[in-house]
Amino acid sequence: MTKGKFHIITFGCQMNKNDSERIAGLLEQVGMVSTDQVEEADLVLLNSCSVRQTAEDRIFGRVKQLAKLRRKRPNLIIGVTGCMAGRDKDGSLKRKLPDVDLFFPTIEATQLPRWVAELNPDLIHDPECDNEFFDIQPIHNSDFQAFVPIQTGCNNFCSYCVVPYARGLQKNRPAKQILDEVRKLAEKGCVEISLLGQAVNTFEASDSEVFSKDNPYKDHFAALLWEINQIDGVERIFYTAPYPKDMTDDVIDALALPKMFNYLHIPVQSGDNEVLRRMNRKYDREEYLEIIDRIKKRVPEIALGTDIIVGFCGETEEEFQNTVDLYRQVEFDISYTAMYSTRSGTVAAKKFKDNVSREEKKRRWRILHELMEEIVLKKNQKFVGQKVSVLVEKCEHGVCTGNSREMKVVQFKGDSKFVGQIVEVEIERAQEWVLFGKENPSPLLRS
Ligand code: SF4
Repeated sequence: MTKGKFHIITFGCQMNKNDSERIAGLLEQVGMVSTDQVEEADLVLLNSCSVRQTAEDRIFGRVKQLAKLRRKRPNLIIGVTGCMAGRDKDGSLKRKLPDVDLFFPTIEATQLPRWVAELNPDLIHDPECDNEFFDIQPIHNSDFQAFVPIQTGCNNFCSYCVVPYARGLQKNRPAKQILDEVRKLAEKGCVEISLLGQAVNTFEASDSEVFSKDNPYKDHFAALLWEINQIDGVERIFYTAPYPKDMTDDVIDALALPKMFNYLHIPVQSGDNEVLRRMNRKYDREEYLEIIDRIKKRVPEIALGTDIIVGFCGETEEEFQNTVDLYRQVEFDISYTAMYSTRSGTVAAKKFKDNVSREEKKRRWRILHELMEEIVLKKNQKFVGQKVSVLVEKCEHGVCTGNSREMKVVQFKGDSKFVGQIVEVEIERAQEWVLFGKENPSPLLRS
């Protein structure tokens, strides 16, 4: 019997990538096989992102291409899941996608085998799946790195953001389920774990009794980090994205646990109090700076990243300059800066005017981008002559590439034997986005 083939195309954040890995695990569980070739797939699933209009536009473009492909393969099933389907409460997006057969929010993905079998019974013979979404064993793309979601949804309702509508209110996974998943990954050789959540540090365990008696933390997220630090085989732990006001003393203290990345991504969005208020971010500039101070006191050499939106509704030049000023004060290593675009259904779309011109948004974006490059180049110089530990992710044409614990891209001359190894690399030269190291370092771990 030939097996039905599926092909998943993922847009957007790490959460979506992990969801796709889980959906792939589900489809393999019911007997389908993954294919890299979209032309030979029986089911093509687009895992969509709604963060910006351009992300949704890409889905419309891809569906058009797939509709053309269906002329050659009339039985092709086209599915769309992810945030776009999650936020489409009134069905208006689905109506604009008549070529799509299956349009469903991620949380309903466990129904996918049944729906596929209804459309084409030859593809799946036993579509029953009793698992909850997070019980599905994901198919990870890497043997040594894995993303582990610890919650879905968000309660914060930032005025510009679709996530609470697309993914619902925050739901935390039980701590036992998370720890079991991490232990299984470690047993299979995974050394780097990235914990995912929309406000990851607001994690609360319904089963906190699973935390060990020696665990020093009361805050459940810090306690979870401590537990993962105790798991043999796990060497590097990263999380994204924390919500600034929920950086409790425990969570800040836990940044210094031995296996943690020496990097924190802590979204600020704006350095101006009035803009933060309009964005419904529940902290002000002074509180954010105070949190950064406490973090730097605990881990003085920590690298910092952030998210910023420029040109949010009504943002004046003075308000923007407050963001520039905050950026200089914090000296972030990296910012993922976005030009604001209205997302229908959000409070900002209903209440405020998107009245900063496209040109002005681009100008503000460029100013921050140039500042970011100036600061990161200066900060990266301190690595020259230092050794950094690097998990090597790939090796192409004799050049190995991986990330340091500061989330800096490091490259050195070497061969594929380094892939999956943690090595200590002496840095010889630093640019904005790459640290260049001496060739053939010696492995720190794993042989
Ligand atoms: Fe969206 Fe704000 Fe929640 Fe982040 S914290 S997912 S920006 S609502």
